[in-house]
Amino acid sequence: MKHLRIHDQEVFRIVEAEKERIENTIDLIAAENHAPLSILEAQGSAFNLKAAEGYPGRRFHAGCGQADDLENLAVKRGKKLFGADHINVQPHSGTSANLAVYFAVLEPGDRILSMRLSHGGHLSHGDAASITSKCFRFVHYGLDPDTEQLDYDAIAKQTADFKPRMIVAGASAYARLIDYRRLAGIARNVSAYLLVDMAHIAGLVAAGVIPSPVPVSDFVTFTTYKTLMGGRGGVIICKEKYRRQIDRAVFPGSQGTPALNQVAAKAVCFHLAATREFAAVQKRVVANAAAMAEEFKQQGYRLVSGGTDNHLVLVDLRPKGLTGRDAEEVLESTGIIVNRNVIPNDPQPPDRASGIRVGAAAISARGLETSDARRIVGLIDAALSNAGRQEVLKHVASEVAVICRNFPVYSQDDKMMLPSSL
Ligand SMILES: *Cc1c(COP(=O)(O)O)cnc(C)c1O
Repeated sequence: MKHLRIHDQEVFRIVEAEKERIENTIDLIAAENHAPLSILEAQGSAFNLKAAEGYPGRRFHAGCGQADDLENLAVKRGKKLFGADHINVQPHSGTSANLAVYFAVLEPGDRILSMRLSHGGHLSHGDAASITSKCFRFVHYGLDPDTEQLDYDAIAKQTADFKPRMIVAGASAYARLIDYRRLAGIARNVSAYLLVDMAHIAGLVAAGVIPSPVPVSDFVTFTTYKTLMGGRGGVIICKEKYRRQIDRAVFPGSQGTPALNQVAAKAVCFHLAATREFAAVQKRVVANAAAMAEEFKQQGYRLVSGGTDNHLVLVDLRPKGLTGRDAEEVLESTGIIVNRNVIPNDPQPPDRASGIRVGAAAISARGLETSDARRIVGLIDAALSNAGRQEVLKHVASEVAVICRNFPVYSQDDKMMLPSSL
């Protein structure tokens, strides 16, 4: 970043400090990951500035030859990777992708059934604070109070009563597999569309480590920056018959020119996600999450739904007498980065919360194996059980530093262009 260093010392220093933070902390935020430097290069490339409203071959600006080549390549790779009829790579984010799907096939005021935010859903699935709830009438399904898993009979009953025009599946804090086929059947009974938002799990799906929603869904949205290990951005997959509606809902419906730098990063992301090395990382993600779940249980923690099938665990801290916010702060002081998270029927308000969400994607990208994952849970427990004891927290921090040194995100050697694991 030699130019940034010369033009703006202040921003340069903050960026350098962020690089240090990434190298020297253990990232367990389930919605984050490390990306290969090739992806960051593509995202910071010459494509940042090109205006290219429209789609390849049908742009509203001149000079789009390379833009067309790039977007066509991203589309071709994305379709192949996910076995999609059609893919739109222009959404700026996951939220934009969901908005475009709603507006592609629904009218304002139409009914949508989706997962409740407080049970693991996402803001853009009609939470009261989201613009989505101001445009459409949402009713939410939650988790079975006993199993803390989706209750498909209850969803079927809600669907029959509410008669939504769309069912939205997918979550931000749900550790179990989702039965897409079952949901497709439930949607079909009332002629509702099925949208699956696989933002969190797209990498696991791309690698074939968990089932794909693509064959049975009308629409699938996702982000490229979570388990998929790409840059920031959103994507929509749909059945061929919705191609025109989806494309028009993205541009000109809800966005202007696409961020072609993001499209470049998406193309690289799809290319890398088709490799054996990527599949190996994703297998490790699931194995590491399972190992962490086991270890948490052995240390006396309660897990929402009792375990995990994917990349994350949701830990209920009430038996330990801690709130999620307390835990988040104590852990950050040792270099372990998690986020507080509400648990189903949480007695605490969301900014305090009773749980933490712990994801295995970023540590797996860094090359950590199951024994390391277990060790990290041991460190989490040591910190949380000794929250006021500075000497224990110092010891945990020094152990965290050793792990970070042993598993660098990016090698110090500039020639090493991939995170350690790819
Ligand atoms: C992370 C996430 C998104 C993405 O939202 P952004 O707008 O990219 O922040 C969408 N849906 C779900 C379920 C998510 O977990």
